[in-house]
Amino acid sequence: PETLQTSLVAMQQESARMTRLVNDLLTLTRFESGKAPSRQPVVLDQFVGRALDELSLRDKGALESRDLQPGVTVRADPEALKQVVNNLAQNALKYAPGAEQHWSVFQADGRAAIRLQDTGPGISRQDLPHIFERFYRGEKARDRSTGGSGLGLAIAKSIVEAHQGTIEASSEPGQGATFTAWLPLAA
Ligand code: ADP
Repeated sequence: PETLQTSLVAMQQESARMTRLVNDLLTLTRFESGKAPSRQPVVLDQFVGRALDELSLRDKGALESRDLQPGVTVRADPEALKQVVNNLAQNALKYAPGAEQHWSVFQADGRAAIRLQDTGPGISRQDLPHIFERFYRGEKARDRSTGGSGLGLAIAKSIVEAHQGTIEASSEPGQGATFTAWLPLAA
C-alpha cells in the first residue's frame, strides 16, 4: 500500500505538471499567433490593485507594497493582463522568497507602465539576456524543485507584445530584479 500511495502521489504531481505545461503552451501559441486580443478599457491602478489583492502576496511571505498612479488607462484583454501580473508575482515568490515586492503603475513618455521591483537575489548577467526566451530557466532555477518550465516570462512577453507593448527586465545581481511592462495608453 505504501508503494502504491507513493506512486499515485507522484503520478498526480506529474499530471498536474503536464496540465500546466500544456496550458502554458496553448496560451503562448494563442498570443504568438498574431490574432488580436479582445480589448476593453482597463484602468490600471484599480486593475493591478485587485489582481494583487487576489494574489494575497503577504500571506505567501512577500512584503508587498504599492504605488499605483490613479487613472492610467490602457485597452487590454483583462484575463491576459492578469496573467502578466500573476506570472511576475509568482516568479518573485519563487526566486525572491520573503523579499519585498514593490508594485507601481505610472505613465511616462506617453506610455503606461506596470512595474515590479523585488529585493531578492536578482538575475545573473549570463541569465538576463535570455530570461524571456521560451523554456529558458536561470542557472539556479534549473533544479526542478521550483517547478517551472521556463515559459512564464515568454508568456508575459507574448501577451504584452500582442497588446503592442514591450516588457523589460533589469537587475544588479544581489540587489533584486525589476520588470516593467510598457503598454500604449488608451486614446
Ligand atoms: P521559470 O520560472 O519556469 O523558470 P520564467 O520564464 O518565469 O520560467 O523565468 C525564467 C527565469 O528567469 C527563471 O528561471 C529565473 O532564473 C529568472 N527569474 C524570473 N523572475 C525572477 C526574479 N524575480 N528574480 C530572479 N530571477 C528571476
